[in-house]
Amino acid sequence: MTDTFKKPGLHIVGGGLAGSEAAWQAAHQGVPVFLYEMRDGKKSTPAHKTSGLAELVCSNSFKSIRLNSVPGLLKFEMEQLNSVIIAAAKKAQIPAGQALAVDRLILSATVEEQLANTGCITRVAAEVTELPSKEEMEERGQAWILATGPLTSEPLYKYIQSNLLAESTDLAFYDAIAPVIEADSIDYEKTYFANRYEPEKDDYLNIPLNKEIYDQFISDVQTAEYSPLHAFESTPYFEACLPIEVMAKRGPETLRFGPLKPVGLEDPKTGEIPHAAIQLRRENADATMFSMVGFQTKMKWPEQKRVFQKIPGLENAVFYRYGSVHRNSYLNSPKCLNENLSFCKNNRVFLAGQISGVEGYTESTAIGLLAGRLAAAMLEEAEFTLPPPSSVIGSLHHYVTKGVIGPFQPMNANFGLLPKLEKSDILKTGKKRMGRRDRRDLQCVLAKQKFEHYFENSQDKNLN
Ligand SMILES: Cc1cc2nc3c(=O)[nH]c(=O)nc-3n(C[C@H](O)[C@H](O)[C@H](O)COP(=O)(O)OP(=O)(O)OC[C@H]3O[C@@H](n4cnc5c(N)ncnc54)[C@H](O)[C@@H]3O)c2cc1C
Repeated sequence: MTDTFKKPGLHIVGGGLAGSEAAWQAAHQGVPVFLYEMRDGKKSTPAHKTSGLAELVCSNSFKSIRLNSVPGLLKFEMEQLNSVIIAAAKKAQIPAGQALAVDRLILSATVEEQLANTGCITRVAAEVTELPSKEEMEERGQAWILATGPLTSEPLYKYIQSNLLAESTDLAFYDAIAPVIEADSIDYEKTYFANRYEPEKDDYLNIPLNKEIYDQFISDVQTAEYSPLHAFESTPYFEACLPIEVMAKRGPETLRFGPLKPVGLEDPKTGEIPHAAIQLRRENADATMFSMVGFQTKMKWPEQKRVFQKIPGLENAVFYRYGSVHRNSYLNSPKCLNENLSFCKNNRVFLAGQISGVEGYTESTAIGLLAGRLAAAMLEEAEFTLPPPSSVIGSLHHYVTKGVIGPFQPMNANFGLLPKLEKSDILKTGKKRMGRRDRRDLQCVLAKQKFEHYFENSQDKNLN
């Protein structure tokens, strides 16, 4: 415990992307901030290499800047909301076509300089292993933000598990993510809705496979290229969510007795149970996205596209998210958080960044931005009006606090999180039908309008 633990103000644990952004946002509201980063001291994570704030751990790209793309729109919205990370990324920009790629050292140095210039952020070189009690926080006039990322240090991980969750299982150590597909890109002629246990229900979209196609699929999975495991990821997999390649290695029939089990899935076209069946599950209430049940995998992304597009019905599949399996601490946020990103168990502690269940540099920063504003608003007894779910940043906030129909797993910003286009939206453009690219462009135009309306009309002092 350091001396700063007793001081009033906002205490932020983790000086990564989300923590740095949260500190900047709160400092701009005049709140004293204490920013704890263990890499400043003796400890690091298995992925970070420097002691600098806002270090990018892998790629140096913040993805597209095009306003007719979801990542581009998210950056536009964050820029309007005075994001220090986006401003620093623009300063550190290096040529990369339509992507915002950066010199990572310039990015980190710029963020450090900007935070220091606020004059109200104190950096503390320490690993935080536990927090004061809620009563102590109230007495001292404190709020806390946890922004410790996917590689949260173990003592704090244990503290969160014991003190802040609804159930201890609400904190995951690994993510085992199945691919998510755009609903409109599926060929429904080759699929059918059925639920194994209640045949009258249409909970799953099933893809029947005959023996020949199944055998080819197993061979493709066995011979595809896979991403190597990092040394820190060598922990054995959970038996309950094995990657498909691990199951396929155990024998050609393993998947047919696991996630590709055809039992109870009579194909209405043939009246027969198929040799095997792949199940897709709706990922959101609008049914604009489907996830491939049990398809968590470390197959390289281009390989996933190649292998999965061979599956009947998925020939033209558009992947919103590819499958993955990696070390990633994240919480079941919709179960544990209030709407303002504070914990239900202690509303003086807020959650930010990748650990809240988003995925990616910009997304993690976006939740840091909101957490910084919301925590500052609580300390200042002020209001911060959240962006609407129809904007990109609002859709991420909505995802983190409300979740989806299926199991909650880290999500990047994508079209599937934005509201579905209504027929009336299309008619207003003077067209009767629209191709996918035009529909996506229109979704971006509408999301931008919603954000701008929010930004212009919000009366609270925090916004400008
Ligand atoms: C190996 C790996 C590669 C990734 N590659 C990409 C990529 O290429 N592109 C992409 O968009 N996303 C990538 N991600 C996902 C994610 O966007 C990044 O991890 C991003 O940095 C998350 O931001 P954050 O602020 O939530 O966490 P981080 O940036 O990780 O920041 C968390 C900070 O908290 C500190 N910390 C942890 N525990 C404590 C503690 N107890 N006390 C004090 N400090 C603590 C850490 O040292 C760290 O500085 C990757 C993730 C990993 C793990």
